Amino acid sequence: ATPTSIMVGTGRGAETGILFKGGEHLEKTYKLTAVILDKTGTVTKGQPELTDLIALDGQADELLALITAAEKASEHPLAAAIVRGAADRGVPPAAEPTAFAAVVGAGVTATVAGKNLAVGTRRLMDEKGVAIATSLDKVEQLESEGKTVMFAAVDDRLAALVAVADTVKESSREAIADLTAMGLEVWMITGDNRRTAEAIARQVGIEHIMAEVLPANKAEQVERLRSQGKIVAMVGDGINDAPALAAADVGIAMGTGADVAIEAGDVTLMRGDLRGIAAAIRLSRATMTNIK
Ligand code: ADP
Ligand code: MG
Repeated sequence: ATPTSIMVGTGRGAETGILFKGGEHLEKTYKLTAVILDKTGTVTKGQPELTDLIALDGQADELLALITAAEKASEHPLAAAIVRGAADRGVPPAAEPTAFAAVVGAGVTATVAGKNLAVGTRRLMDEKGVAIATSLDKVEQLESEGKTVMFAAVDDRLAALVAVADTVKESSREAIADLTAMGLEVWMITGDNRRTAEAIARQVGIEHIMAEVLPANKAEQVERLRSQGKIVAMVGDGINDAPALAAADVGIAMGTGADVAIEAGDVTLMRGDLRGIAAAIRLSRATMTNIK
């Protein structure tokens, strides 16, 4: 394409909230054959809400107060959902934690009012030697509804289940149907558990899922598809997504996301609307076919 046609193309993109960082990205986007969408904040709104607190050992409000105290120190959106949910229920944090550690992709540990707390994934419970003896039917039911279930242990005993729900963006389903109709292979990637991921994927019509992927391994998954000869777009919004955005043939960041993600991407969707992906591909195709 000529410099003029590239300029026209990037200008037209900008008018509709699709920012190409350079002409080379506009020239490449039409070649994409696979798209990997981050779940939280990309397919979903990224504003999780506390929906269930199930006390297994102790009194619900007391457990929520302990859990909230531990999560207050975390910067994770799931932590924010718990803290907000507790405030809405009029439950203040139990005490200021005397120790705190974030376990990336797994949860948090903290000491609150002399008690040792661990809140997070089943894997975190395994690592801490917390036995999960209760029947997990409830967990499976919540996960099948697309909720993220966190396990909370007090002094190494499983004490509560905490469920949080995030809703899908209104435009996600249409955007994914459009990409699939264009012949692209659409994937969803997440650190969340497989059952929750499958439920969300079903809501928006995604067939291929990469679940329980640690933040450090997202880029590896991009490379895996590329090594199969696919031309891959990674679409994400989080700090965690930055290496994967950089590893992709075309990194697409949500304009609503973290600065680090926007910096790592080649294209920014200013409106955080996934329909911008198909629009970017069409724009690229038009630019490259008009002027050869
Ligand atoms: P995502 O891809 O959804 O952003 P992460 O990789 O950050 O997920 O986290 C994976 C899982 O680890 C979450 O689904 C949750 O179960 C658990 N987790 C992460 N951070 C926290 C936290 N602050 N409190 C409780 N659980 C957490
Ligand atoms: Mg995200």
